[in-house]
Amino acid sequence: MPLRLFNTLTGQSEDLVPMDGKAIRMYACGPTVYDYGHIGNFRTFLQIDVLRRTLQLLGVPVHHVMNITDVDDKIIRNAAAQGIPIGEYTAPFERAFFEDLDTLKIQRPEQFARATEHIAHMVELIQELANAGAAYQTEDGSWYFRLAAFPEYGKLSKKDLSGIEDGARVDVDEYEKDSARDFALWKAAKPGETSWDTPIGRGRPGWHIECSAMAMEYLGESFDLHGGGEDLMFPHHENEIAQSETVTHKQFVRHWMHVRFLLVDGRKMSKSEGNFFTLRDLLLKGYKASAIRLALISVPYRHQLNFTFDGLTEATNAIDRLRTFHQRLIQANLAPGSNPAIQAASEIAQAGYLAALSDDLNTASARAPIFDLIRAANTAIDQGQFFANDREVVLSVLSSFDRVFDVIEDGDAEPTRRALGWAKQAGRETDIAPELLARESLTDEAIDALIAERTQAKRQRNFARADEIRKHLADIGIVIEDSKDGVRWKRK
Ligand code: AMP
Ligand code: ZN
Repeated sequence: MPLRLFNTLTGQSEDLVPMDGKAIRMYACGPTVYDYGHIGNFRTFLQIDVLRRTLQLLGVPVHHVMNITDVDDKIIRNAAAQGIPIGEYTAPFERAFFEDLDTLKIQRPEQFARATEHIAHMVELIQELANAGAAYQTEDGSWYFRLAAFPEYGKLSKKDLSGIEDGARVDVDEYEKDSARDFALWKAAKPGETSWDTPIGRGRPGWHIECSAMAMEYLGESFDLHGGGEDLMFPHHENEIAQSETVTHKQFVRHWMHVRFLLVDGRKMSKSEGNFFTLRDLLLKGYKASAIRLALISVPYRHQLNFTFDGLTEATNAIDRLRTFHQRLIQANLAPGSNPAIQAASEIAQAGYLAALSDDLNTASARAPIFDLIRAANTAIDQGQFFANDREVVLSVLSSFDRVFDVIEDGDAEPTRRALGWAKQAGRETDIAPELLARESLTDEAIDALIAERTQAKRQRNFARADEIRKHLADIGIVIEDSKDGVRWKRK
């Protein structure tokens, strides 16, 4: 079954199949490492992760490249303010970005590319544009792309650009929606600024040329897919197309994927609006990494998602159901054989799941049949109508679910501990939720000891003390389950 994916360029859903018959070559615009990313940024990276994992699930290999923008106006300004080289300024944020990817279980692309390590290639591309008459130098030594040299400009965002004044320029990387202008390819160095000495002068690259150069370096002049957040469609991706196709006379990218925004109260989550949460903010509030992942991917990428804490709680509960069921399946004592109804339900769930993901990565519809199957299986187990072969097929449906969603296996303790360690180092202790602090300060051994004390108290009919211990643990999010085989506990 091929993946059908909406293509911004054609405005239609199309099969995504490798141009070279081997692997999907894809490029996703990565972070600008001037600060910690917010969860809006990570929603986009998560949806790209859903794309690559779905392709793999469908048996299609991927070769995925992501850039790291480690030089831009903000980076230069902030590094200068601290009196340190830009590399020293960006290093901790780049490290934090990789850590956050791990926290969210976002698979690493096959290739990362730092802008500062590809300056020579960018310069070559600008020279080729100049040779083609599409780039010109201004008096201050900067280079601009001549929009008039690329008549197809606007084909991605479908903008009507008939009113543009020839030669009007803009020299910032991010600009307003309707200001299509000749844009900067290379910015001449101002005194004291970080810059590179190159055949086209001393300066630094613009953001747009960065992606054209690195994408073509690793993926070739034409490749399958390019993705990013919806704000990148114009001007960033439009500019990438103009730069690349002017030089190669080939289609730069066949398929464009744009992830709709994460909103807060109807407005884009962004640094400038000040309405953002970083991943660390949420971990310190006591939310699990897996719940953040699930909440951000469960609304399909072509829908905007309004961020709420209720959404995180819903995801937390859904994960609880998945994990509890998974545990139950593994531990259940089952007779040999199979129940035809469960076998059929598993097949339906698996088919529904794959069909939904293949239909433009519809993660919401993909979840539904999995939870239907869990309901049916739980009932069958309760009624003694669930057998060893049923366990096999249901486990295999869950494992295929987890190849994309990746929330059943519990890896939540480590990121939370890491966030706590970071908060202490960064002087952010006051942001840690008291419940989380209390829960994490109790070691497993200390919890075992309290539980042993409770069991002892019950035996001595000291129910007041036993209840007190249960309540104390519950208050800090540790749940006790009494069963035939003794007492089990888990961190909520
Ligand atoms: P940046 O680090 O600002 O270059 O952004 C990294 C990625 O996050 C880009 O693909 C942006 O389009 C995307 N992005 C920024 N804000 C949001 C948001 N609120 N929701 C979803 N994606 C976003
Ligand atoms: Zn880019």
